[in-house]
Amino acid sequence: MSAQMEKLIDNAEGMLLHTYNRFPVVFDRGEGMHLFDVDGKRYLDFFSGIGVFALGHGNREFNDAVKDQVDKLLHTSNYFYNEPAIEAAKRLLDASGMDRVFFTNSGAEAVEGALKAARKYAYLKDGRTDHEIIAMDHSFHGRTFGALSVTGKKAYRDPFEPLIGGVKFAAFNDLDSVKALVNDRTCAVIMETVQGEGGIHPATEEFIRGVRDLCDEHGMLLILDEIQCGMGRTGSMFAYQEYGVTPDIMTSAKALGCGLPVGAFLLKGDAAMHSLEAGDHGTTYGGNPLVCRAAATVLKIYEETDLTAHVRTASAYLRKRLDALAASRSDVVELRGRGYMLGMQFDHPVGDIIKRALDKGVVLINAGADVVRFLPPLIADKGDIDEMMSAFEASLD
Ligand SMILES: *Cc1c(COP(=O)(O)O)cnc(C)c1O
Repeated sequence: MSAQMEKLIDNAEGMLLHTYNRFPVVFDRGEGMHLFDVDGKRYLDFFSGIGVFALGHGNREFNDAVKDQVDKLLHTSNYFYNEPAIEAAKRLLDASGMDRVFFTNSGAEAVEGALKAARKYAYLKDGRTDHEIIAMDHSFHGRTFGALSVTGKKAYRDPFEPLIGGVKFAAFNDLDSVKALVNDRTCAVIMETVQGEGGIHPATEEFIRGVRDLCDEHGMLLILDEIQCGMGRTGSMFAYQEYGVTPDIMTSAKALGCGLPVGAFLLKGDAAMHSLEAGDHGTTYGGNPLVCRAAATVLKIYEETDLTAHVRTASAYLRKRLDALAASRSDVVELRGRGYMLGMQFDHPVGDIIKRALDKGVVLINAGADVVRFLPPLIADKGDIDEMMSAFEASLD
């Protein structure tokens, strides 16, 4: 590491609140599938900034659109309309099959909005103020109070109690455990279609359909968090589309802005028409012309390049390579996931593997202590996969 990079890291450690154990790398620029640090070292990006850079770094059409919008109009507030928000809304509703959208600044904020909408929907129906929400063990929905309250990891929650009340946790993929928690106060079930931070666990079809039916039976809303698994990552625009279920409320973020901070919660049917009304919710920045131009352009590029079709073919090759590797090693417990959202669980911690891969110029990350997570930009092709696999295999022992 150069003296310059060391100094930058020292400076950062002296100023930034220490909420992350960062890897000792200062990235400087990106190009397609690659990142470059301030020393000029090149890295293959198989993490895409937690699944954000779906289009890779420096997509020309995307960058030009954002630059154009910077010079045109950055912000208006939500007291007025703006064209990029209208275009982004149209494209997002078309892609998701939902009826209404509210743009936010982050994923956690999208989850906050989804929870508020669910409570308001139930309140309008029965006037009660003691509604409950069912969430899942090992889930992750964000770090703000509401989102944290439905996050299924006790260690994340405990220091910040009391969180919002009325949240109960069921076992993911165990329908009976959800049924056991339902009562006349339950207003919603929230889950990720494919759990991300919790270790890459896809919902089973039986489970997600069972929860959908249960929600219909009891007049509860189904909230699907597609912040990590949505936006083409599994090979469909949204992961729930592969299960043949439709949520009442859905959250998106991460790849939606491909590097600009934009999230959204979307509502369908009754939940869209009878929940949040004028005065119930708001945001200053949310849905501003800059981030919405970014989101609209992202969705346009997905369509123009048929990116989800690419994900389906290319990710099948990654899966094949990883399956073969898993079969050849006794320390691999399981390979899980869908599309370009895969996790390889080992019978030991994976921190050293990830550090060695980084040394060899490949950015991978864990999901929990013993799972290596593969979350490449969606443009990753066979050549990128081969390059990643040689560095990954060399990092294993
Ligand atoms: C990242 C993530 C969030 C939180 O998004 P932020 O933009 O970090 O607030 C919520 N849910 C899921 C499934 C995520 O992966």
